[in-house]
Formats: sequence, structure tokens, C-alpha cells
Amino acid sequence: MRKLLPIVVLMFLGIQPGFAQWSAQNHAERFEQLGTMLRSPNVYRTASGAPGHMYWQQKADHEISVELNDDNQSIKGWQKVTYYNNSPDPLKYLWIQLDQNERAKDSNTPKTAESSINPRMNLRQLENILWHDLDLGYKIHSVKDMTGKDIPVTINHTMMRVDLPQPLLPGQKTEFTVDWSFNIHDRMSFIGGRPGYEYFPNDGNYLYTMAEWFPRMAVYSDFEGWQNKQFAGRGEFALTFGDYKVKITVPADHMVGATGVLQNPQEVLSPTELQRWETAKKTYDKPVIIRTQAEAEKLEKAKSKDKKTWVFHAENVRDFAWTSSRKFIWDAMAVKQGGKDVMAMSYYAKEANPLWEQYSTRVVAHTIKSYAAKTFDYPYPTAISVEATNGMEYPMICFNYGRPDADGTYSDAIKYGMISVIIHEVGHNFFPMIVNSDERQWTWMDEGLNTFMQYMAEQEWDRNYPSRRGPAHKIVPYMRSEKNTLEPIMTNSENIIQFGPNAYAKPATALVILRETIMGRELFDYAFKEYAQRWMFKHPTPEDFFRTMEDASAVDLDWFWRGWFFGTEPVDIALETVNWYKMDNRTPAEKKADEKKAFEREEDYISKTFNQKDVPQTVVETDPATRDFYNSYNPFTLTPEDEKAYNDFMARLSPKEKELLNSGLNFYELKFKNLGGLVMPLIIQLNYVDGTSEVERIPAEIWRYDEWEVSKVFAKKKEVKSVLLDPYRETADIDESNNHWPQQYVPSRFEMFKGAGGVRGAASGDNPMKRAKSKK
Ligand SMILES: [Zn+2]
Repeated sequence: MRKLLPIVVLMFLGIQPGFAQWSAQNHAERFEQLGTMLRSPNVYRTASGAPGHMYWQQKADHEISVELNDDNQSIKGWQKVTYYNNSPDPLKYLWIQLDQNERAKDSNTPKTAESSINPRMNLRQLENILWHDLDLGYKIHSVKDMTGKDIPVTINHTMMRVDLPQPLLPGQKTEFTVDWSFNIHDRMSFIGGRPGYEYFPNDGNYLYTMAEWFPRMAVYSDFEGWQNKQFAGRGEFALTFGDYKVKITVPADHMVGATGVLQNPQEVLSPTELQRWETAKKTYDKPVIIRTQAEAEKLEKAKSKDKKTWVFHAENVRDFAWTSSRKFIWDAMAVKQGGKDVMAMSYYAKEANPLWEQYSTRVVAHTIKSYAAKTFDYPYPTAISVEATNGMEYPMICFNYGRPDADGTYSDAIKYGMISVIIHEVGHNFFPMIVNSDERQWTWMDEGLNTFMQYMAEQEWDRNYPSRRGPAHKIVPYMRSEKNTLEPIMTNSENIIQFGPNAYAKPATALVILRETIMGRELFDYAFKEYAQRWMFKHPTPEDFFRTMEDASAVDLDWFWRGWFFGTEPVDIALETVNWYKMDNRTPAEKKADEKKAFEREEDYISKTFNQKDVPQTVVETDPATRDFYNSYNPFTLTPEDEKAYNDFMARLSPKEKELLNSGLNFYELKFKNLGGLVMPLIIQLNYVDGTSEVERIPAEIWRYDEWEVSKVFAKKKEVKSVLLDPYRETADIDESNNHWPQQYVPSRFEMFKGAGGVRGAASGDNPMKRAKSKK
């Protein structure tokens, strides 16, 4: 194990050429710049990742009047759209998104969903094959110009082309109206989906979450032209910023929450509610309940037949969503943000208590503060969390999950699931509601960045928060999965196979690794904030993110984007060998004495090991002169030549070289193999004989000459007892069994199975999370 380094090697230390670099197998371009894999920078988007000096984006303002029919669960609406062409291009037509048509009878969504027959089919699986003959999807009654004249339109499933009478020239605006209606669907049924209604059979009431509810302008951009890829259910939205004035007419006893600021509270709230609302605006430490559970329960029974109209205004939002129910309890508190107050609020039915009144609004407030610290002050006046058994985000309002059991008890899984979803969906205000990326194309740009931010907000909420995604080791099962189920993060939203791991967990993990391991927090945080601020209220592309992160940090990350975002390879770095060397600083006399001792030890060993009598004696006849020579030769005698060579060598050494020679340093030569393909830094923990340890960090660039095999020497005063690669599990290494020296055998686990008599199954609660219940 211990080898003595020949003394002359001293001269070469540190300047040994790495011969491995010439090996033929090397170079899959892991360290080449991304170059043509990225869109070219231009006057709209700079090479540094910022908006260019001629950056532009379109704008679409909306005035909408909508009425909810609670008797037959339908809505009808009228809207006036003012569309501003800020592009340098004349537009002959406009594209409008008709998302409700995804649920229409002729939708391509069920047609392009694979299906197969299993030996056992449940109702939901069969419904997904049979689809439905429900009357869903938009009815577009008219599209008119401001003189009341019909404008010709063409509907292609979820997209509607509005053919303008004459091209809309750069710098001009156009106005038109759309009259529409549709039946709201039961989102708790197999049709599912983000918006819709939930029916509560116990009290006969409905809870509406209204999103993708009005025909919305598609995005026309410098990088995509019209983003009119069909809405198929998975790939989310690309939306244009604008101002909204929305009038929502609902049953008089409904409580409405929406994007924007309520303009007529005195008309829709009771005097008591109005008073509590004013109190909430000045309460910063806890939520104020504005409509109580008792009040809501009373309304649930009375079911008013009157109507009220709620008016909301919202500025600079890419979308508008709302919720309505007489079941709603409402609470709110104020949060200071950049010299302004934001109202953090929650709407939930009694079924969500006692969990929601305790946590929801507090989590909203926490999320705003946590995200703002890493990006920009939250610019909107409200942030709302609605309990709706799902999780979906819109500007200022989001629909979340987390309902206790009927008896009011809930498991830790429900509680933390609820907090995580609220953080996540409120967090989406930052990405993609404000940093407005194209979700139809790239899911990771909002989900990945947001899941990364969510992880940090969770850890700030509670240092021991059971975060599901973020830490590197949590992505290992995905990275280890079958090659044909892996796709690059840079894959279109509609084509992703393992959606959660690919578009949420992997990019989030990559960002955690960037922050903690590759760039360091200071450089990362500055660059990430720069990206958020550069693209706040704008439309960024992946290039803008990749470039900004490098531009603001001086860290070349092309290899990282290439490996983590454009590739599917996992990390598996093996610590192959460790060789221990010491410099030979003995005098010739000491050396000879050591050699003699070693020889004698060997002789002694041989004579003790073998029975001399059994060894046949060999008699060799030699001539007398040869015999005399051998008899007088003693290899352990110090010769004058030995002495001279040593003295000459020592005389040539500089004082610094002499000091190094006598330093007693231990040299450890570590050899690494890249088995996984994805290059990463080497994080090496050296554990010393004296019980202390030290971590050496080698940047990934050590692999740039040879992407498969590298060696690295460490000179240490202390003696190393063992070495551990990636001690903090920060690289997502999929095989940690080859990270140890000396090799450590890590046991594979198997389960003991209790034979006959052991009961398993749903009745005994095979969900361990469900068993640990707590009542609050
Ligand atoms: Zn999300």
C-alpha cells in the first residue's frame, strides 16, 4: 500500500503531463460551448441574456362582463379586447386561445391519448376510453368590430384565428368584442382539469374555480411568432400581459375571490364584513376572518336567489381567474412589500378546516417574503390561496389542495402537502406569472425554477421541513431509471414522459446543485436575481436564463447546461484507486541499512517457513575466481560512489527543495472513473488517522481533457485512513457503493416477510402517512 517515491520524482512534482489526455476515446464535447444549440442573440435579446435595445412585447387589455348560472353550472360572457401591436411586423390575423374546447366532443386530446385493455378495468379507465358526450367547450356567439360588424374567424379546435379587415400595423391597436358561453364541467369527474366546479352533496352547494374561462390572446413574439400550438391538457399557457376590468355576476350570497382589486366592496360585502376587511388591511401579524365558518354555513342552507355583481380591476397581468361559492370562509392579512401592503388571503369551505384557517394565509405571506428576497418585491396588491382539492396558479390567485378527513383530523402528509402546494402555487406568481415564460413550450422554465424556490421557502418555513424535491440525492431514482424513459429537460411540455421528475424535480435539483456546489450561494443568488429582474413582466426564453446565469457570475456553465438540461446521462463517478507515496529522503547509509534489514527479515522468514531438511541442496560448481568475487561482494556495503552521488544531488538542491524533501509529506494519488457520463466536480473527503477530516473540492473542469478517467494527487502532512467521494450527497451520484476507499460494502436491503397470519391491505392502512394522524 505504501510506496516510496524515487527521490528524482521530486523534480517532476506538479508538472507531470497528463498522458491520459491524449487517449483516443476522449471527447464527447462535454466542455464545448453550446454555440449553435442556442438561438442567436439579436436586437431583441442580447448575448448576455438581457432584453435587447429593441425588445418588444404585445399587450392585450380586457373588459369583461360574465354571469355565473348556479342552477345549471354554466357561464356566459362578453368581452372587449384592445390589442396593441408593439412588434415591428404587420399582423394580418390574430390568434385567440379557446382552452375550453379541449373538453369538447371533437377534442383531439382523448384521440391522441394512448389506451389499452387491462385484465381488470375500473370505471375511470373505461370513461377515459369512452370519453364523453357532454355539451362542453365554447359556444362563440359573435366576434365583432367596434361598429358591430362581424369579423370572420376560423376555429381550429383550441385556437381561433381572427381575420382582420386590414393588417394591424406596427404601433397600432385594434379593438373587437367576443360573445361566448359554455357549460362548466365537474372537475372532480374523470374529465378532471384545472378549472371547473366541485359539488358538495352534503349541503347541495357548488364551488367554482374559474380559469381558462374567457377567450385569451395568444402570444406573438420575436422568438416564436404566434404561439398557437394546440392546448392538449398538459403543456400549459403562453399569455400576453394587459390590464383587466372584470364584472362578475353571481348569486348574492356567494363570496368571490379574483385576480386584481375589488372595486365595489361596499356593494357586495355586508357592513360587518366591510369592517373586518378594513381591520385586516391593518393587521400584519395574523389573518383576520372576514366571513366566518358559522356565517358561511348559514348561507349554505339559505341559498339566495338574488344576484350581485363584483367588480375587479387588475393591472399588468397575463391572465385573470376567479372563484365563487356560498361555502367560502374568507380571511386576510397585510404583508409589507417594498413600501406597499399586499393582502394575503384565503378562501376555503368548512371542509378545509381546521387546517386552512390555521395555515393557508400565513403560508401565503411567508411565500411572498421568501420569494421576494431572491427575486423582486411582490408587485401585485393581493395574493390569494383557494382550497379546491387541486393545485393550479394564476396571477394573484391560486387553487390548492389540503383537506382534512371528515372528522377534522389530518395526517402530516396532508398538512405538509397543503403547505407545499400553497408555497408552490403562490410562488408561481413569480414564475411564470411575472417572469412570463412560454409554458406551452417549456414546462421547466416555470415549474423547475418554481420548485427550486419552493424548496428554499419550505426550508425557511421549517428547518426540518420534509421537502419532497430539491436535495440532490432525491433525484437519484429518476436518474437511475431506464434510458428509454429519460428525456432532456429541454423537451417540449407535451412530449415529456416522466413529467414530475423531468420538468419539476430535475431542474430544481440542478439549480440546488448550481447554487450549493458549482457556483456558490453568493454568485448564484446574484445571477438568479438578475435573471428575475431582467425578465420581470417580460417573456424570457431558455437562452436568456442560461446566458444571464453566466453573464452575471463569470462562471462558464455551458458544460452544466449541456449535461443537466440537454442530456440524460446520470452522475456516477467511481473512486477507482488510492496510491500512497512518500518522498525518499534517506542518506545512502540509511538506505543500505534498511535494505539489509529487509533482506535479513526475508531470510529469517524463509528459514522459519520451510523445513530445511526437505529442501534439496544444490551444489554448483564454480571456478575459484568467481567464487572469491561473490564471497567478497556485499550489496549492503556503502561505496564512495554512492556517497558522492548523494552529496552532489544534495548540493544541487535549493533550500526550498531541501525543505520539501524533508517535509515528510504523504502523497495520495486518487484515480477516478466517470461511469455515468455526466461530469461533475470531485468532492473528496479525506479522513485522517488522527480522527480529523478535510474536504477537497475540485471543479468539474478537471474532466475537460479526459471525460472518462482522471487522477489527482493530494500532498498531506497527516496520514489518510479512508477517502469518501461526495460526502454530503450533493452531486446526485447514482451509485455510491464505488465512492469509498478502502472499498466499503454497502448492503442491499431485503424485506423480511411474515408468513400466514400477516395482514396487508387497505383496511390496515397501507399508507404509512395516513396512520400518523394528529388533531389540531
Ligand atoms: Zn407548478
